[in-house]
Amino acid sequence: MEEKINKIICKKCGEEIKEGAQFCGKCGKKVKKCYILIGVILVFICVVGIYIYINSRTNKST
Ligand SMILES: [Zn+2]
Repeated sequence: MEEKINKIICKKCGEEIKEGAQFCGKCGKKVKKCYILIGVILVFICVVGIYIYINSRTNKST
């Protein structure tokens, strides 16, 4: 069987970081999970999209 371990590479020093570790063992850089950032961006795009949609509808009334 293949070992399925999500390997995270430190963006600062390139060291391999074990899954679950929050800091790089070599340089101590904090490991950020991209998923949270993507979620925040998606929510932000949705909110902006709704805002623009509402604005465009209200502007048409003139
Ligand atoms: Zn590092």
